[in-house]
Amino acid sequence: MLSTPFTATILGAPRIGPNRELKRAVERYWAGRIDRAALEEIAAGLRRDTLAALSAAGLDSVPVNTFSYYDQVLDTAVLLGALPSRVSGIADDLDRYFAAARGTADIAPLEMTKWFDTNYHYLVPEIGPNTTFALHPDKVLAELKEAQAQGIPARPVIVGPITFLALSKAVDGAEAPIARLGELLPLYADLLGRLAGAGAEWVQIDEPVLVTDILGDAANAAELAEHVYATLAATTKRPAILVATYFGEPGPVLPALARTQIDGVAIDFVAGGDQPVAGIPGLADKLLVAGVVDGRNVWRTDLEAALARLESLPESARSLAVSTSCSTLHVPYSLEPEDGLDEALRGWLAFGAEKVDEVATLATALRNGRDSVTAQLEASNRAVASRTHDPRLHNAAVRARLDTVLSGGISRGPAAERRKAQDSRLNLPALPTTTIGSFPQTVEIRKARAAFVAGEIGEADYTGRMKSEVETVIRLQEDLGLDVLVHGEPERNDMVQYFAEQLDGFLTTRNGWVQSYGSRCVRPPVLFGDVTRRQPMTVEWATYAQTLTDKPVKGMLTGPVTILAWSFVRDDQPLADSANQVALAIRDETVDLQSAGIAIIQVDEPALRELLPLRNAGKAAYLEWAVDAFRLSTSGVSDATQIHTHLCYSEFGEVIGAIADLDADVTSIEAARSHMEVLDDLNGIGFSNSVGPGVYDIHSPRVPTTGEMATSLRRALAAVPAERLWVNPDCGLKTRKTDEVTESLRHMVQAAQLVRAG
Ligand code: GLN
Ligand code: ZN
Repeated sequence: MLSTPFTATILGAPRIGPNRELKRAVERYWAGRIDRAALEEIAAGLRRDTLAALSAAGLDSVPVNTFSYYDQVLDTAVLLGALPSRVSGIADDLDRYFAAARGTADIAPLEMTKWFDTNYHYLVPEIGPNTTFALHPDKVLAELKEAQAQGIPARPVIVGPITFLALSKAVDGAEAPIARLGELLPLYADLLGRLAGAGAEWVQIDEPVLVTDILGDAANAAELAEHVYATLAATTKRPAILVATYFGEPGPVLPALARTQIDGVAIDFVAGGDQPVAGIPGLADKLLVAGVVDGRNVWRTDLEAALARLESLPESARSLAVSTSCSTLHVPYSLEPEDGLDEALRGWLAFGAEKVDEVATLATALRNGRDSVTAQLEASNRAVASRTHDPRLHNAAVRARLDTVLSGGISRGPAAERRKAQDSRLNLPALPTTTIGSFPQTVEIRKARAAFVAGEIGEADYTGRMKSEVETVIRLQEDLGLDVLVHGEPERNDMVQYFAEQLDGFLTTRNGWVQSYGSRCVRPPVLFGDVTRRQPMTVEWATYAQTLTDKPVKGMLTGPVTILAWSFVRDDQPLADSANQVALAIRDETVDLQSAGIAIIQVDEPALRELLPLRNAGKAAYLEWAVDAFRLSTSGVSDATQIHTHLCYSEFGEVIGAIADLDADVTSIEAARSHMEVLDDLNGIGFSNSVGPGVYDIHSPRVPTTGEMATSLRRALAAVPAERLWVNPDCGLKTRKTDEVTESLRHMVQAAQLVRAG
């Protein structure tokens, strides 16, 4: 097919709005404070601004349909007529859409899970025996038309059929959704025809699943890719097809796609590294969209290196376009509001808008020669050079200390001896009761924090208010009869940002919001340099709480893997090295907590599974350094100090062995929704430390009964002997209301008493 190739693009753009306008608008719509027309007007304005900015920056092909009111996978389910039947009674299409996303009083929402190894979460489509697919292309056609009216060279973006089905979940006894591929292809072909009819020159079909091992092995992915895209390319009336692979190296999928009659392939040269593209049969008549600007991390591109990469490519393909490696959905909009950064730091970074400029600069250099972008190349070189020399990135003292500590070993004493030392120190009853750490973030807490951040109240006032909150929470736990208490974490805005703000080597942003899911946005810290702890970070809170009670208070820390998983990380050293530096800081904190008399310390690693590589080949190495970082952070204390950890958000299957290797004395783990099955898995690998399988699901406002939790506990006792079993909820309580929490914990303590009595 003869299509006009383009030269500069990105694979997708953020949509929440530069100041989270979309978040605010949809939340107002949900609350009934604005109507649909008002919401749509705000959304249209955001799309218009995004398109205008992308085209003004010099992109000659601009992605459309990457806007979403909630999630692009849910949009694809709508496109394909695959919403679950339980929402079909809702007449208004937008309300139906939001019902599938968020649920209603009587409709359960779709499940949500992580989009590959990013921190974006998509809704998992449900495919059952009764799911019948049908094309509903209104959204993409409307967004295409809107862009065309604006004079934008628009390229609609669609999640591809393989990725859509591979990420869906079979329900009601249906076979694996991928078996339904044959039904989807005619719909995609129909869609291609309509897009062509509407004047689209190009369409981008996203197939990130092809770079993972989700489909089994790479050969299987390649076979599917070739089959699907040979079929779609044979559609008579269609735009030029660009298949986008990203988040990794396509491997055999690239030659497979090259063999088909599609018109272009997008490759992620950042996550995928220096993959060979020379001499691949079929590629020579295609457009190669080279993702050389990192779409999901915040670092400024080394333009020289990117240019060298690009200059080595043209022989391989018919033509070349410069692109981000993936959608810039995963990075903040722009550096512009970040006026709190020093010049060097600022110079190292590129957010969404800056990445678009980098793409345009590289495309200009390819078109008009390096001389046409001398100033930009020089600025990039200066930034790269300053990053290699800045002492904040190379702190010899930290590195030497890390080596020394590591050479001393990261194991604790034998678990049985630790248990003996801890038992005689703590004197806990059988089936000890505790919580995961946070108590509800009340309106007063949030108000006080907002006032503090705005400078309306001073630090002493703020700290005083948080301490009185700690006191309330300690009294509550004593009244309820819990055995191991927590201070409730009122002072923490976020379990990662709280530590990042106190560690050198991290920066936090003013406005660096990225979408986590739906209307929820996060502001991940940026780990840019070597990590040092300026001073104790949590000791004051834990010790204050301990003065209020004779029961043991658990110190609460976030583990190194989770801190990395929820931050933007440096790209100039292996993640394992960064993890160890963070681990050293956490280790120092555990030692200080111990010296201050805290006998139990919990190091949370809820994100342990999140950084698991997409390809099987990398998994073992990851788990090894992740476990080592945890052990480094927890092995500085004596045997008599009890180390807890907490894990949640996942199916633990692939990481179950690693959980045991963490060697925490007590592991609290999400289990209520899976009915304690995780305990059998732990037994299966010979796990023999203590475990606290969550006895109730904190994600629901429902207060569980004493009987239900006693039943859960008895079920747990079938798998774990009483001397190793703890009693706790599934996760932290910060999103719940105080009344719910009080009642639920009262029942939980009663359940423990019931079961102890036999
Ligand atoms: N200690 C944290 C809390 O209770 C753990 C949160 C989590 O697991 N995500 O809030
Ligand atoms: Zn949790």
